[in-house]
Amino acid sequence: MTQEADLIVVGGGMAGTVAALAAAEHGLTAILLEKMADLGGSSALSGGVLALAGTDLQAKAGINDSPDLLREDLLEVGEQENDVAVVDAYIANQLDTFEWLRNHGVEFSDNVWASSGQSVPRSHTVEPAGTVRRLAALGRETGKVEILRNVAVQTLIRDPITDRVIGVTATQDGEEVTFNARKAVLLACGGFSQNPGLIHRFVPLMDRAVAAGGEGNTGDGLKMAWKLGADVADMPYIKGTFGKHPVDRTNIHTCLAVYKGAIVVDDDGKRFMDESMSYKKLGDECLKLETASCYQIFDQGVFELGDNDTPVFDFERRLESGLLMKADSLEEVAGMLEIPAETLAETVRAYNASVDRGDDPLGRRSVVHHHGELRRIEHAPFYVYPSTTCVFGTYCGLAVTSQAQVLDVFGAPIEGLFAAGETMGGFHGGAYMTGSALGKAAVFGRIAARAIAAG
Ligand SMILES: Cc1cc2nc3c(=O)[nH]c(=O)nc-3n(C[C@H](O)[C@H](O)[C@H](O)COP(=O)(O)OP(=O)(O)OC[C@H]3O[C@@H](n4cnc5c(N)ncnc54)[C@H](O)[C@@H]3O)c2cc1C
Repeated sequence: MTQEADLIVVGGGMAGTVAALAAAEHGLTAILLEKMADLGGSSALSGGVLALAGTDLQAKAGINDSPDLLREDLLEVGEQENDVAVVDAYIANQLDTFEWLRNHGVEFSDNVWASSGQSVPRSHTVEPAGTVRRLAALGRETGKVEILRNVAVQTLIRDPITDRVIGVTATQDGEEVTFNARKAVLLACGGFSQNPGLIHRFVPLMDRAVAAGGEGNTGDGLKMAWKLGADVADMPYIKGTFGKHPVDRTNIHTCLAVYKGAIVVDDDGKRFMDESMSYKKLGDECLKLETASCYQIFDQGVFELGDNDTPVFDFERRLESGLLMKADSLEEVAGMLEIPAETLAETVRAYNASVDRGDDPLGRRSVVHHHGELRRIEHAPFYVYPSTTCVFGTYCGLAVTSQAQVLDVFGAPIEGLFAAGETMGGFHGGAYMTGSALGKAAVFGRIAARAIAAG
Protein backbone atom coordinates (compact mmCIF):
# COMPACT_ATOMS: atom_id res chain seq x y z
CA MET A 1 0.00 0.00 0.00
CA THR A 2 1.31 3.48 -0.82
CA GLN A 3 0.07 6.80 0.46
CA GLU A 4 1.23 10.26 -0.51
CA ALA A 5 1.37 13.81 0.88
CA ASP A 6 3.47 16.93 0.43
CA LEU A 7 5.15 16.29 3.77
CA ILE A 8 5.74 13.09 5.70
CA VAL A 9 6.34 13.83 9.39
CA VAL A 10 8.00 11.05 11.39
CA GLY A 11 7.05 11.31 15.07
CA GLY A 12 4.13 12.85 16.95
CA GLY A 13 5.65 14.86 19.79
CA MET A 14 5.87 18.63 20.01
CA ALA A 15 8.08 19.04 16.93
CA GLY A 16 5.97 16.75 14.75
CA THR A 17 2.55 18.10 15.71
CA VAL A 18 3.71 21.72 15.42
CA ALA A 19 5.25 20.99 12.02
CA ALA A 20 2.19 19.19 10.66
CA LEU A 21 -0.16 22.01 11.71
CA ALA A 22 2.18 24.74 10.50
CA ALA A 23 2.67 22.94 7.19
CA ALA A 24 -1.10 22.76 6.71
CA GLU A 25 -1.32 26.48 7.39
CA HIS A 26 1.26 26.99 4.64
CA GLY A 27 -1.05 25.06 2.31
CA LEU A 28 0.69 21.67 2.40
CA THR A 29 -0.82 18.28 3.01
CA ALA A 30 0.93 16.19 5.64
CA ILE A 31 0.86 12.64 6.95
CA LEU A 32 2.21 12.29 10.48
CA LEU A 33 3.40 8.80 11.42
CA GLU A 34 3.78 7.84 15.08
CA LYS A 35 5.14 4.46 16.03
CA MET A 36 3.53 4.25 19.45
CA ALA A 37 -0.16 3.79 20.22
CA ASP A 38 -0.33 7.36 21.53
CA LEU A 39 1.10 10.63 20.36
CA GLY A 40 3.25 12.69 22.69
CA GLY A 41 6.69 11.13 23.06
CA SER A 42 8.94 12.90 25.53
CA SER A 43 7.05 16.13 24.93
CA ALA A 44 3.95 14.80 26.66
CA LEU A 45 6.00 13.53 29.62
CA SER A 46 7.98 16.73 29.98
CA GLY A 47 7.78 19.47 32.56
CA GLY A 48 6.24 21.64 29.85
CA VAL A 49 8.85 24.37 30.16
CA LEU A 50 9.85 26.48 27.17
CA ALA A 51 12.75 28.94 27.39
CA LEU A 52 11.45 32.15 25.83
CA ALA A 53 12.61 35.74 26.11
CA GLY A 54 10.86 39.07 25.74
CA THR A 55 7.32 37.83 26.36
CA ASP A 56 4.49 39.92 27.75
CA LEU A 57 4.29 37.44 30.65
CA GLN A 58 7.83 38.38 31.63
CA ALA A 59 7.06 42.08 31.24
CA LYS A 60 3.97 41.69 33.45
CA ALA A 61 6.13 40.08 36.13
CA GLY A 62 8.70 42.88 35.86
CA ILE A 63 11.32 40.58 34.32
CA ASN A 64 13.72 42.38 32.05
CA ASP A 65 14.73 39.90 29.36
CA SER A 66 15.47 40.09 25.67
CA PRO A 67 16.20 37.78 22.72
CA ASP A 68 19.80 39.07 22.79
CA LEU A 69 20.23 38.06 26.41
CA LEU A 70 18.70 34.65 25.69
CA ARG A 71 21.17 34.24 22.83
CA GLU A 72 24.06 35.19 25.07
CA ASP A 73 22.93 32.71 27.74
CA LEU A 74 22.40 29.88 25.24
CA LEU A 75 25.92 30.32 23.92
CA GLU A 76 27.40 30.63 27.40
CA VAL A 77 25.56 27.57 28.70
CA GLY A 78 26.50 25.74 25.50
CA GLU A 79 30.15 26.60 26.16
CA GLN A 80 30.28 28.28 22.72
CA GLU A 81 30.06 24.83 21.13
CA ASN A 82 26.63 25.61 19.66
CA ASP A 83 26.04 26.08 15.96
CA VAL A 84 25.51 29.85 16.03
CA ALA A 85 23.34 29.87 12.90
CA VAL A 86 20.97 27.36 14.52
CA VAL A 87 20.87 29.34 17.77
CA ASP A 88 20.15 32.51 15.80
CA ALA A 89 17.28 30.80 14.02
CA TYR A 90 15.79 29.94 17.43
CA ILE A 91 16.25 33.50 18.63
CA ALA A 92 14.63 34.93 15.51
CA ASN A 93 11.58 32.63 15.80
CA GLN A 94 10.98 32.01 19.50
CA LEU A 95 8.74 34.99 20.30
CA ASP A 96 6.72 34.46 17.18
CA THR A 97 6.34 30.77 18.09
CA PHE A 98 5.14 31.76 21.57
CA GLU A 99 2.44 33.93 20.00
CA TRP A 100 1.61 31.24 17.44
CA LEU A 101 1.10 28.67 20.20
CA ARG A 102 -1.07 31.07 22.17
CA ASN A 103 -3.08 31.89 19.07
CA HIS A 104 -3.74 28.16 18.80
CA GLY A 105 -5.12 28.06 22.30
CA VAL A 106 -2.03 26.84 24.14
CA GLU A 107 -2.12 28.31 27.62
CA PHE A 108 1.04 29.44 29.38
CA SER A 109 1.18 29.77 33.14
CA ASP A 110 1.58 33.38 34.39
CA ASN A 111 4.35 32.14 36.65
CA VAL A 112 7.61 32.65 34.74
CA TRP A 113 10.44 31.22 36.79
CA ALA A 114 14.21 30.93 36.75
CA SER A 115 15.99 27.67 36.20
CA SER A 116 19.29 26.27 35.17
CA GLY A 117 21.26 28.36 32.70
CA GLN A 118 18.86 31.31 32.76
CA SER A 119 20.34 34.61 33.88
CA VAL A 120 16.79 35.93 34.31
CA PRO A 121 13.54 34.00 34.84
CA ARG A 122 12.35 32.73 31.43
CA SER A 123 10.82 29.32 32.07
CA HIS A 124 7.36 29.51 30.49
CA THR A 125 5.18 26.51 31.33
CA VAL A 126 2.43 24.77 29.37
CA GLU A 127 0.50 21.60 30.08
CA PRO A 128 2.55 19.47 27.67
CA ALA A 129 0.38 16.43 26.94
CA GLY A 130 -2.67 18.61 26.39
CA THR A 131 -0.65 20.88 24.13
CA VAL A 132 0.41 18.02 21.85
CA ARG A 133 -3.16 16.70 21.75
CA ARG A 134 -4.48 20.14 20.89
CA LEU A 135 -1.97 20.76 18.11
CA ALA A 136 -2.71 17.35 16.63
CA ALA A 137 -6.45 17.99 16.74
CA LEU A 138 -6.04 21.40 15.12
CA GLY A 139 -3.91 19.81 12.42
CA ARG A 140 -6.65 17.28 11.67
CA GLU A 141 -9.28 20.02 11.64
CA THR A 142 -7.50 21.75 8.76
CA GLY A 143 -8.41 18.71 6.66
CA LYS A 144 -4.84 18.63 5.39
CA VAL A 145 -3.21 16.56 8.12
CA GLU A 146 -3.63 12.84 8.54
CA ILE A 147 -2.26 11.26 11.71
CA LEU A 148 -1.51 7.54 11.85
CA ARG A 149 -0.46 5.78 15.04
CA ASN A 150 1.24 2.43 15.47
CA VAL A 151 3.20 3.10 12.30
CA ALA A 152 6.94 2.69 12.77
CA VAL A 153 9.03 4.31 10.06
CA GLN A 154 11.93 2.07 9.07
CA THR A 155 13.83 3.63 6.16
CA LEU A 156 14.10 6.76 4.10
CA ILE A 157 13.58 6.36 0.38
CA ARG A 158 15.83 8.27 -1.99
CA ASP A 159 15.24 8.97 -5.65
CA PRO A 160 17.89 6.83 -7.39
CA ILE A 161 18.63 9.57 -9.91
CA THR A 162 18.40 12.85 -7.97
CA ASP A 163 19.27 11.45 -4.52
CA ARG A 164 16.40 13.47 -3.08
CA VAL A 165 14.52 11.94 -0.15
CA ILE A 166 11.09 11.15 -1.54
CA GLY A 167 9.42 9.09 1.14
CA VAL A 168 9.66 6.47 3.83
CA THR A 169 8.91 2.83 4.38
CA ALA A 170 7.16 1.86 7.58
CA THR A 171 5.55 -1.09 9.26
CA GLN A 172 1.85 -0.91 9.97
CA ASP A 173 -0.01 -3.93 11.37
CA GLY A 174 2.95 -6.11 10.48
CA GLU A 175 2.89 -5.01 6.84
CA GLU A 176 5.44 -2.87 5.04
CA VAL A 177 3.88 0.36 3.83
CA THR A 178 5.31 3.18 1.71
CA PHE A 179 4.57 6.85 2.20
CA ASN A 180 5.63 9.15 -0.61
CA ALA A 181 6.60 12.74 0.10
CA ARG A 182 6.07 15.20 -2.74
CA LYS A 183 8.15 17.86 -0.98
CA ALA A 184 10.03 16.50 2.04
CA VAL A 185 10.35 14.13 4.96
CA LEU A 186 10.68 15.66 8.42
CA LEU A 187 12.35 13.57 11.11
CA ALA A 188 10.67 14.64 14.34
CA CYS A 189 11.17 11.30 16.03
CA GLY A 190 12.96 12.42 19.16
CA GLY A 191 16.29 11.35 20.55
CA PHE A 192 17.67 8.04 21.81
CA SER A 193 17.36 8.18 25.59
CA GLN A 194 15.70 4.75 25.44
CA ASN A 195 18.54 3.14 23.50
CA PRO A 196 21.23 2.08 26.01
CA GLY A 197 23.54 0.87 23.25
CA LEU A 198 23.65 4.27 21.58
CA ILE A 199 23.97 6.07 24.91
CA HIS A 200 26.93 3.88 25.79
CA ARG A 201 28.54 4.49 22.43
CA PHE A 202 28.62 8.25 22.93
CA VAL A 203 28.67 8.82 26.71
CA PRO A 204 29.58 5.74 28.78
CA LEU A 205 29.35 7.89 31.95
CA MET A 206 25.58 7.72 31.47
CA ASP A 207 25.47 3.92 31.63
CA ARG A 208 24.31 4.02 35.26
CA ALA A 209 21.77 6.79 34.71
CA VAL A 210 18.08 5.94 34.69
CA ALA A 211 16.69 6.02 31.14
CA ALA A 212 13.59 8.17 30.81
CA GLY A 213 11.90 9.89 27.91
CA GLY A 214 9.34 8.66 25.43
CA GLU A 215 9.32 4.90 25.03
CA GLY A 216 9.67 5.20 21.28
CA ASN A 217 12.77 7.37 21.45
CA THR A 218 15.31 4.81 20.33
CA GLY A 219 17.28 6.84 17.80
CA ASP A 220 15.47 5.64 14.68
CA GLY A 221 15.77 9.04 13.01
CA LEU A 222 19.51 9.16 13.55
CA LYS A 223 20.05 5.69 12.18
CA MET A 224 17.88 6.24 9.13
CA ALA A 225 19.70 9.48 8.32
CA TRP A 226 23.14 7.99 9.02
CA LYS A 227 22.41 5.45 6.35
CA LEU A 228 22.16 8.38 3.96
CA GLY A 229 25.45 9.91 5.13
CA ALA A 230 24.03 12.47 7.55
CA ASP A 231 26.37 14.23 9.96
CA VAL A 232 25.82 14.68 13.69
CA ALA A 233 26.45 17.43 16.21
CA ASP A 234 26.91 17.69 19.99
CA MET A 235 27.13 13.92 20.54
CA PRO A 236 29.72 14.05 23.37
CA TYR A 237 27.54 16.43 25.38
CA ILE A 238 24.68 14.15 26.34
CA LYS A 239 23.97 14.87 29.95
CA GLY A 240 21.76 13.31 32.54
CA THR A 241 19.48 15.34 34.77
CA PHE A 242 19.95 15.34 38.50
CA GLY A 243 17.15 14.70 40.97
CA LYS A 244 15.46 11.50 39.81
CA HIS A 245 14.36 9.11 42.53
CA PRO A 246 16.63 6.07 42.08
CA VAL A 247 13.99 3.35 42.28
CA ASP A 248 10.59 4.96 41.87
CA ARG A 249 9.05 4.80 38.40
CA THR A 250 5.71 6.42 39.26
CA ASN A 251 6.97 10.00 39.16
CA ILE A 252 9.02 10.58 36.04
CA HIS A 253 10.01 14.11 37.02
CA THR A 254 13.09 15.12 38.87
CA CYS A 255 12.92 16.90 42.20
CA LEU A 256 15.08 20.01 42.31
CA ALA A 257 14.84 21.03 45.95
CA VAL A 258 18.45 22.15 45.52
CA TYR A 259 17.18 25.13 43.55
CA LYS A 260 15.10 26.19 46.54
CA GLY A 261 18.00 25.78 48.96
CA ALA A 262 18.51 22.07 49.69
CA ILE A 263 21.98 20.62 50.08
CA VAL A 264 23.15 17.32 48.60
CA VAL A 265 25.07 14.72 50.60
CA ASP A 266 26.66 11.43 49.60
CA ASP A 267 26.34 8.07 51.35
CA ASP A 268 28.78 9.30 54.00
CA GLY A 269 26.64 12.34 54.78
CA LYS A 270 29.07 14.79 53.18
CA ARG A 271 28.47 17.49 50.60
CA PHE A 272 30.49 17.01 47.44
CA MET A 273 29.39 19.65 44.92
CA ASP A 274 28.16 23.20 44.44
CA GLU A 275 24.40 22.58 44.37
CA SER A 276 23.67 25.76 42.38
CA MET A 277 25.27 24.33 39.23
CA SER A 278 23.24 23.30 36.20
CA TYR A 279 21.31 20.12 36.99
CA LYS A 280 23.20 18.52 34.13
CA LYS A 281 26.49 19.13 35.89
CA LEU A 282 24.97 17.95 39.18
CA GLY A 283 23.93 14.82 37.27
CA ASP A 284 27.51 14.14 36.17
CA GLU A 285 28.85 14.59 39.69
CA CYS A 286 26.23 12.23 41.08
CA LEU A 287 27.12 9.51 38.56
CA LYS A 288 30.76 9.70 39.63
CA LEU A 289 29.80 8.56 43.17
CA GLU A 290 30.36 4.90 43.97
CA THR A 291 26.64 4.21 44.22
CA ALA A 292 25.64 6.82 41.61
CA SER A 293 23.10 8.14 44.08
CA CYS A 294 22.88 10.68 46.89
CA TYR A 295 20.37 12.64 48.99
CA GLN A 296 18.85 16.11 48.79
CA ILE A 297 18.29 17.34 52.33
CA PHE A 298 16.25 20.39 53.27
CA ASP A 299 14.21 21.92 56.05
CA GLN A 300 10.67 23.20 56.51
CA GLY A 301 11.66 26.64 55.15
CA VAL A 302 12.62 25.11 51.80
CA PHE A 303 9.61 22.80 51.85
CA GLU A 304 7.33 25.83 52.07
CA LEU A 305 8.88 27.22 48.88
CA GLY A 306 7.50 24.22 46.98
CA ASP A 307 5.10 24.77 44.09
CA ASN A 308 2.48 22.14 43.30
CA ASP A 309 2.12 23.38 39.72
CA THR A 310 5.78 22.88 38.86
CA PRO A 311 6.71 19.17 38.95
CA VAL A 312 10.34 19.72 39.97
CA PHE A 313 9.20 21.74 43.00
CA ASP A 314 6.15 19.71 43.89
CA PHE A 315 7.28 18.58 47.33
CA GLU A 316 3.81 18.01 48.75
CA ARG A 317 2.80 15.34 46.24
CA ARG A 318 6.10 13.56 46.78
CA LEU A 319 5.54 13.61 50.52
CA GLU A 320 2.03 12.20 50.07
CA SER A 321 3.31 9.42 47.85
CA GLY A 322 6.09 8.50 50.28
CA LEU A 323 8.95 9.43 47.95
CA LEU A 324 10.00 12.37 50.08
CA MET A 325 11.03 11.29 53.56
CA LYS A 326 10.32 13.47 56.60
CA ALA A 327 12.07 13.50 59.98
CA ASP A 328 11.76 15.57 63.12
CA SER A 329 15.49 16.00 63.57
CA LEU A 330 18.76 15.67 61.69
CA GLU A 331 19.62 12.71 63.93
CA GLU A 332 16.52 10.98 62.65
CA VAL A 333 17.55 11.80 59.06
CA ALA A 334 20.97 10.26 59.72
CA GLY A 335 19.30 7.15 61.14
CA MET A 336 17.10 6.77 58.06
CA LEU A 337 20.08 7.03 55.75
CA GLU A 338 22.34 4.89 57.95
CA ILE A 339 25.01 7.56 58.13
CA PRO A 340 26.78 8.72 61.31
CA ALA A 341 24.64 11.39 63.01
CA GLU A 342 27.69 13.45 63.90
CA THR A 343 28.86 13.56 60.27
CA LEU A 344 25.51 14.86 59.04
CA ALA A 345 25.29 17.34 61.90
CA GLU A 346 28.76 18.62 61.05
CA THR A 347 27.90 18.87 57.32
CA VAL A 348 24.84 21.00 58.08
CA ARG A 349 26.68 23.08 60.70
CA ALA A 350 29.53 23.82 58.28
CA TYR A 351 27.09 24.65 55.50
CA ASN A 352 25.09 27.04 57.69
CA ALA A 353 28.31 28.73 58.78
CA SER A 354 29.37 29.20 55.18
CA VAL A 355 25.92 30.65 54.35
CA ASP A 356 26.46 33.19 57.14
CA ARG A 357 29.98 34.01 55.95
CA GLY A 358 29.17 33.87 52.23
CA ASP A 359 32.16 31.73 51.33
CA ASP A 360 31.13 28.15 50.73
CA PRO A 361 34.27 26.02 50.19
CA LEU A 362 32.45 24.15 47.38
CA GLY A 363 31.77 27.46 45.66
CA ARG A 364 28.03 27.77 46.17
CA ARG A 365 27.14 31.46 46.05
CA SER A 366 23.43 31.31 45.24
CA VAL A 367 20.51 28.94 45.21
CA VAL A 368 20.54 28.40 41.45
CA HIS A 369 22.84 29.79 38.77
CA HIS A 370 23.21 33.44 39.86
CA HIS A 371 19.84 33.66 41.59
CA GLY A 372 18.50 33.45 45.08
CA GLU A 373 20.05 33.97 48.45
CA LEU A 374 21.28 30.91 50.28
CA ARG A 375 19.38 29.93 53.38
CA ARG A 376 20.43 28.07 56.49
CA ILE A 377 19.06 24.59 56.99
CA GLU A 378 17.67 24.78 60.50
CA HIS A 379 13.89 24.56 60.87
CA ALA A 380 12.46 21.12 61.63
CA PRO A 381 10.99 19.01 60.23
CA PHE A 382 13.68 17.97 57.78
CA TYR A 383 13.19 16.28 54.43
CA VAL A 384 15.20 13.85 52.35
CA TYR A 385 14.85 13.05 48.67
CA PRO A 386 17.00 10.14 47.46
CA SER A 387 18.36 11.24 44.09
CA THR A 388 20.20 9.94 41.10
CA THR A 389 20.67 11.03 37.51
CA CYS A 390 18.43 10.19 34.61
CA VAL A 391 18.68 10.73 30.88
CA PHE A 392 15.51 12.49 29.82
CA GLY A 393 16.76 13.43 26.45
CA THR A 394 19.75 13.37 24.19
CA TYR A 395 20.53 16.97 23.44
CA CYS A 396 22.40 16.19 20.28
CA GLY A 397 21.60 14.71 16.90
CA LEU A 398 21.57 15.30 13.19
CA ALA A 399 23.51 18.27 11.88
CA VAL A 400 21.07 20.72 10.29
CA THR A 401 21.06 24.10 8.60
CA SER A 402 19.37 27.07 10.25
CA GLN A 403 16.31 26.01 8.22
CA ALA A 404 16.34 22.49 9.74
CA GLN A 405 17.56 20.76 6.61
CA VAL A 406 19.77 17.75 7.38
CA LEU A 407 23.43 18.02 6.38
CA ASP A 408 25.63 15.20 5.21
CA VAL A 409 29.11 14.50 6.51
CA PHE A 410 30.56 16.84 3.89
CA GLY A 411 28.32 19.71 4.99
CA ALA A 412 25.99 19.51 1.99
CA PRO A 413 22.22 19.56 2.56
CA ILE A 414 20.44 16.26 1.94
CA GLU A 415 17.66 17.27 -0.42
CA GLY A 416 14.20 16.56 0.86
CA LEU A 417 15.28 15.69 4.42
CA PHE A 418 14.62 17.86 7.47
CA ALA A 419 14.93 17.29 11.22
CA ALA A 420 13.37 19.16 14.14
CA GLY A 421 13.26 18.81 17.90
CA GLU A 422 15.36 16.27 19.73
CA THR A 423 16.39 14.50 16.52
CA MET A 424 18.48 17.52 15.55
CA GLY A 425 21.82 18.58 17.00
CA GLY A 426 23.86 21.77 17.00
CA PHE A 427 21.51 23.92 19.02
CA HIS A 428 22.49 23.17 22.62
CA GLY A 429 26.25 22.85 22.15
CA GLY A 430 28.05 21.76 25.32
CA ALA A 431 25.09 21.93 27.70
CA TYR A 432 21.37 22.57 27.87
CA MET A 433 19.36 25.45 29.29
CA THR A 434 16.09 24.47 30.95
CA GLY A 435 13.24 24.84 28.52
CA SER A 436 15.40 24.96 25.44
CA ALA A 437 14.60 21.39 24.32
CA LEU A 438 10.82 21.70 24.28
CA GLY A 439 11.29 25.23 22.96
CA LYS A 440 13.54 23.89 20.21
CA ALA A 441 10.94 21.28 19.25
CA ALA A 442 8.22 23.93 18.80
CA VAL A 443 10.42 26.55 17.17
CA PHE A 444 12.15 24.21 14.70
CA GLY A 445 8.92 22.38 13.93
CA ARG A 446 7.64 25.70 12.58
CA ILE A 447 10.90 26.63 10.89
CA ALA A 448 11.00 23.28 9.08
CA ALA A 449 7.38 23.56 7.93
CA ARG A 450 7.97 27.05 6.58
CA ALA A 451 11.18 26.07 4.80
CA ILE A 452 9.55 23.00 3.25
CA ALA A 453 6.58 25.03 2.07
CA ALA A 454 8.91 27.62 0.55
CA GLY A 455 11.19 25.05 -1.08
C1 LIG B 1 10.38 13.83 32.08
C2 LIG B 1 10.90 14.81 31.08
C3 LIG B 1 10.84 16.16 31.38
C4 LIG B 1 11.32 17.09 30.45
N1 LIG B 1 11.10 18.39 30.72
C5 LIG B 1 11.48 19.31 29.80
C6 LIG B 1 11.12 20.65 29.98
O1 LIG B 1 10.38 21.01 30.89
N2 LIG B 1 11.59 21.55 29.08
C7 LIG B 1 12.36 21.18 28.01
O2 LIG B 1 12.80 22.04 27.26
N3 LIG B 1 12.64 19.89 27.77
C8 LIG B 1 12.19 18.94 28.63
N4 LIG B 1 12.43 17.63 28.37
C9 LIG B 1 12.98 17.28 27.05
C10 LIG B 1 11.90 17.56 25.98
O3 LIG B 1 10.66 17.12 26.47
C11 LIG B 1 12.20 16.85 24.66
O4 LIG B 1 13.49 17.15 24.22
C12 LIG B 1 11.21 17.34 23.59
O5 LIG B 1 9.89 17.21 24.05
C13 LIG B 1 11.38 16.54 22.32
O6 LIG B 1 10.32 16.80 21.45
P1 LIG B 1 10.27 16.06 20.06
O7 LIG B 1 8.99 16.42 19.44
O8 LIG B 1 11.53 16.32 19.33
O9 LIG B 1 10.31 14.51 20.44
P2 LIG B 1 9.24 13.62 21.22
O10 LIG B 1 8.27 14.46 21.93
O11 LIG B 1 9.99 12.62 21.98
O12 LIG B 1 8.44 12.91 20.03
C14 LIG B 1 9.08 12.00 19.19
C15 LIG B 1 8.05 10.98 18.74
O13 LIG B 1 8.59 10.22 17.66
C16 LIG B 1 8.14 8.89 17.79
N5 LIG B 1 9.01 8.00 16.99
C17 LIG B 1 10.27 7.61 17.28
N6 LIG B 1 10.74 6.80 16.31
C18 LIG B 1 9.76 6.70 15.39
C19 LIG B 1 9.62 5.97 14.18
N7 LIG B 1 10.60 5.19 13.71
N8 LIG B 1 8.46 6.06 13.49
C20 LIG B 1 7.44 6.83 13.95
N9 LIG B 1 7.51 7.52 15.11
C21 LIG B 1 8.65 7.46 15.82
C22 LIG B 1 8.21 8.63 19.28
O14 LIG B 1 7.42 7.53 19.66
C23 LIG B 1 7.70 9.97 19.83
O15 LIG B 1 6.31 9.95 20.02
C24 LIG B 1 11.93 16.66 29.25
C25 LIG B 1 11.98 15.32 28.94
C26 LIG B 1 11.44 14.39 29.84
C27 LIG B 1 11.46 12.94 29.47
